[in-house]
Amino acid sequence: MSLFSAVEMAPRDPILGLNEQFNADTNPNKVNLGVGVYFDDNGKLPLLQCVQAAEKALMDKPTARGYLPIDGIVAYDNAVKGLVFGADSEPVTSGRVATVQAIGGTGGLKIGADFLKKISPDAKVLISDPSWENHRALFTNAGFVVDTYAYYDADNRGVNFDGMLASLNAAAPGTIIVLHACCHNPTGYDITSAQWDQVVEVVKAKGLTAFLDMAYQGFGYGIAEDGAVIQKFVAAGLSFFVSTSFSKSFSLYGERVGGLSVLCDSKEEAGRVLSQLKIVIRTNYSNPPTHGGAVVAAVLGNPELRALWEKELGEMRVRIKAMRQTLVDGLKAAGVQQDMSFMTQQIGMFSYSGLSKDQMVRLRSEFGVYGTDTGRICVAALNSKNIDYVCQAIAKVIA
Ligand code: PLP
Repeated sequence: MSLFSAVEMAPRDPILGLNEQFNADTNPNKVNLGVGVYFDDNGKLPLLQCVQAAEKALMDKPTARGYLPIDGIVAYDNAVKGLVFGADSEPVTSGRVATVQAIGGTGGLKIGADFLKKISPDAKVLISDPSWENHRALFTNAGFVVDTYAYYDADNRGVNFDGMLASLNAAAPGTIIVLHACCHNPTGYDITSAQWDQVVEVVKAKGLTAFLDMAYQGFGYGIAEDGAVIQKFVAAGLSFFVSTSFSKSFSLYGERVGGLSVLCDSKEEAGRVLSQLKIVIRTNYSNPPTHGGAVVAAVLGNPELRALWEKELGEMRVRIKAMRQTLVDGLKAAGVQQDMSFMTQQIGMFSYSGLSKDQMVRLRSEFGVYGTDTGRICVAALNSKNIDYVCQAIAKVIA
């Protein structure tokens, strides 16, 4: 009898399982629209010029790799604060933001979840229906009961905003609401600025705790535009959480660079919160790795490199938007009767295509076009070479 004889096989990660299936597919025309990764028009993962320049500068002056502080590189944390709240904003200048470097956006969410479990052990967590798969798993693993708030409206192709507000209004005080700050994953539908105002109002009136997941800042309308929602929560005088990811915006997926920021009432309170975040980190992995954080700090801290980053991020954003339009036009040209223009109203890397599970399975098995069973496709993986093939394939499964 082994110690592990009763250990059950865990279900496979759905996205990674799709990847394995894609890699094993021998179809020469196969296209992977399953993963949430930005590829350039040549189908390649970009290595941004700003990153290369920062890495070169770092290599020209090599430094020893001692342990970082538990909360990470100071310049990095300050850069995160600046991006999220604005460098000269009142929350930053008054010192009431506690920010820590994290292992990607996932790490930021996990540090926040573990800290919340300590201070609000009985709170429930609400995530959008649907949401990024890992939200439920991560908060469940942190010990929370996780439920959903209404979000996607399949019939009307958009957000069921009345349903969303009703869910939030019905939540008990102290409930933790995980919100996608921009570029909702998986649907591609964001709420409007006026609707955000209403969400902020309910969060405040009901005493809810907002946890904003900002994994795609800059992929929607621009860095400041996508960050505008943060300002609304600040203006309402709320305390809240923001996780940041640079995986997509710096194309630094494997370096695992992200952060967690907690807006507190005062500098003194932020000091206490920071001390607790550090305990969470210390007891999980002690302190963050050096390279990714150093690169991002170097880019954001240098006006020229920062301008280059904003330009490169802008190019990614514009290319995705162009692909949305090309997709809609291509589907029409391929004979799709139904109006697919809703795809251009979606924002960010993903599109809920409206295709059924059966259609997604056919896309995969007959055409080697891989998206998730929910109908989600990654528009950022389309390019001028594969788009015609994808349009033809979708047209055939829709017909
Ligand atoms: N949150 C959302 C909504 C995401 O889509 C992702 C990544 O796909 C993450 C968080 C995690 O980001 P990271 O890869 O930096 O951990």
